[in-house]
Amino acid sequence: DVLINGGVEFSSLLLSKPVLEGLSASGFHRPSPIQLKAIPLGRCGLDLIVQAKSGTGKTCVFTTIALDSLILENTTTQVLVLAPTREIAVQIHAVVMAIGSAMEGLECHVFIGGRPISQDKLHLKKCHIAIGSPGRIKQLIEMGVLTTSSIRLFVLDEADKLLEDDSSSSFQEQINWIFSSLPANKQMLALSATYPESLAHNLSRYMREPTFVRLNPTDPGLLGLKQYYKIVPSHSLPHKVFEEKVQSLLELFSKIPFNQALVFSNLHTRAQHLADILSSKGLPAVCISGGLSQDQRLEAMWKLKQYQCRVLISTDLTSRGIDAEKVNLVINLDVPQDWETYMHRIGRAGRFVGFSSDVNFVAMDVKHVSLPCVTDPIPPGIMDEACDWDVIIE
Ligand code: ADP
Ligand code: MG
Repeated sequence: DVLINGGVEFSSLLLSKPVLEGLSASGFHRPSPIQLKAIPLGRCGLDLIVQAKSGTGKTCVFTTIALDSLILENTTTQVLVLAPTREIAVQIHAVVMAIGSAMEGLECHVFIGGRPISQDKLHLKKCHIAIGSPGRIKQLIEMGVLTTSSIRLFVLDEADKLLEDDSSSSFQEQINWIFSSLPANKQMLALSATYPESLAHNLSRYMREPTFVRLNPTDPGLLGLKQYYKIVPSHSLPHKVFEEKVQSLLELFSKIPFNQALVFSNLHTRAQHLADILSSKGLPAVCISGGLSQDQRLEAMWKLKQYQCRVLISTDLTSRGIDAEKVNLVINLDVPQDWETYMHRIGRAGRFVGFSSDVNFVAMDVKHVSLPCVTDPIPPGIMDEACDWDVIIE
């Protein structure tokens, strides 16, 4: 067991007894560096922009702040959490229920598209913490079924995604609308693994003097991850390139030790085909993509988390926020369009490094393009690397 933060425990953060019990029941005894810095600041009521690489425990940051300030007797919604995808919303819900397990009567529900509104209405009769996608939350406020007058904490998880400028999903407009429907006197938390300049600009609309809490600001995403590339012979025929990549993939799986792997494909039409190939070779694989129904998507995530498959093949739908702790290998079958997508993809491996010193992380490209961070071909062995944990508060 690695001692982190000099062995500081959650109990020294002056949290309420039930929250401490819930943290302990969830197996969280010591705060991660970002938790150690951000939770007390959040409990003081400050608006925070929390930036730390994937897997550093940001969910627990806002969950703890939210639960610790909750007034259980008041069953109207006091905390609103927005997340960019359904999967992330469902995952946050699980964390809230785990850390809130000792809070009797706690009501927390997920509100996302593709589920019946009638069920939402029922859930909103008593709902301390509402988690949802911007679209559905806006709809529920508009309909007057989600009451905003008691909301004291507004959380944007994956804020960079939610406020992306060129977002085709127009989250920004919905979030503006939601924000203007909330009480003026409230606290706001924005959490993100990346911090593009546009995010600061976009957040300035909502937060006046936010405190920045950043982990490893110079290299937010990549500490603890080893990244390699593999070059695949090129062909004029796309399906030939795909075959080459599959061949390489099989070779990698046979050579590299891994618990579970995520494979990212830019095209969701190929994902299922690839899953079939891998399964037929004795590597149980499932795929998840926007082309599947909500139930199918949740089932695929469940299989991954329950260790019922070794490989999850995904499009960029799952490159953000999804937390599957056994995943320690990420393969980009196709290199993504931009650096940030790449970073989020590889962030799926290397969850919570620093708690254990004997985990190795690998991310690689089957096809090499010029990603500044990927410089080495795959080495014969996989090394691990200590990661440093400086937290900067501005
Ligand atoms: P992020 O949102 O920063 O990407 P998550 O909140 O999804 O990260 O947390 C990543 C993993 O770390 C989860 O599996 C979570 O259970 C675990 N984790 C978070 N905080 C702690 C802690 N204090 N002690 C042990 N495990 C933790
Ligand atoms: Mg997260």
